[in-house]
Amino acid sequence: MSAARLLAALLATLAFVPALPAQADTPELPDRIAAAWRTDHVSVDERLQPTMPASELARIRTAIRSAGLPVYVALVPQSPYLRASGYDLPTLLHARIGEPGVYIVAVVYDNYWSDNAALFRPAGLRGRDLYSVRADDKQDSDIIDERPAPQIVRTIQQASTAYDGRPLPPVPHGDLDPQHSDGGLSVTDKENRSAYVGIGVGAVLGFALVLFLGLRRRRPGKQTNLHRSDDPPIEAWYVELKADDKIKQAERALARLDKRTNKTTQQLDQRDDAYRRLDAARTLRADQPEDLLAAAGALVLARQAERVASGAELQPPCFFDPLHNPGTTQVGWEDEVEVPACQNCANVLRRGRTPIGLRVWSKAGLLGHDRKKVPYWTLAPEDSPMVATGFGALSDDLPERIAVR
Ligand SMILES: [Zn+2]
Repeated sequence: MSAARLLAALLATLAFVPALPAQADTPELPDRIAAAWRTDHVSVDERLQPTMPASELARIRTAIRSAGLPVYVALVPQSPYLRASGYDLPTLLHARIGEPGVYIVAVVYDNYWSDNAALFRPAGLRGRDLYSVRADDKQDSDIIDERPAPQIVRTIQQASTAYDGRPLPPVPHGDLDPQHSDGGLSVTDKENRSAYVGIGVGAVLGFALVLFLGLRRRRPGKQTNLHRSDDPPIEAWYVELKADDKIKQAERALARLDKRTNKTTQQLDQRDDAYRRLDAARTLRADQPEDLLAAAGALVLARQAERVASGAELQPPCFFDPLHNPGTTQVGWEDEVEVPACQNCANVLRRGRTPIGLRVWSKAGLLGHDRKKVPYWTLAPEDSPMVATGFGALSDDLPERIAVR
């Protein structure tokens, strides 16, 4: 072999190496899951096995035993392959297994679990559509997503209801976001909200400006040692899927509200507020279909629209990452301000650390070779209403800011 051919072979090898991690999940993912299901209907991807609590799997297995129909569950980390298959994975898996039942693929990204499910019945059997059972389940959107079992167990219960008509049991208290449990705005909430709206845009802008002056004093270097180097980069496509899914859920919630006759004044207000947020979410998706900040903003607004339309209390997002659970805890951030944070981020802050937060490419990095991920709140607020308002966590005027752009 000539030296040139040896060199060419070596270069080919080197060129191939960086592509390997992205290919780790190529089309054999459905084959791997299907193979695992031949021995166990709960398949946990090997990348998740070291950290998967046994209690989560035990709950899923208990739910499977009382489901009354075959259940197949796969727990997988987000991957480039899932981008292409997306919501079709349960169908691909059913094609390989060939048995009726409910097929559930639970995907984890960051700390955020979401599941895709499809119900396949034996020929001729009548019953309800899983999708419509889920749409009617008022508690569905209140289920916490930082652990896999709560959503998977609920999906199994919804499939049983769709399959044999049994009533849906109530969601256990521990599976619900603490702030969600009470439906509807109390009089006090309503007064608070009116007072808050009455602050006026000027005051809100001033507040946001103070906050960002405060935030920007943080040196990125101070945080570097807190970031794990193996954090997966957030993928815009994943957020886009979540946002579009949530927009559909908000549309269904609004359709239910629209159908009600004799709406109270409060319900009419909720309807207007929900449409305002939903319209802004749609605008963001239509105007910037491939932008991570826009998709995350749309997700937050659609999530709020769905809650408001369902009569639940409006919740700000987690300031640090709008993809987290809502910001149900006020936490001190530097000296100047308090921001709403999810439970996880609040715990991180209590330990004196800075949550990793939603990270995006810095502007400078996009042009130069030195691409760098930075927390979104270090971007210039004047360039994006999502940054300026912390996705609505700092000031609840994101829909208005999107409408005037
Ligand atoms: Zn958070």
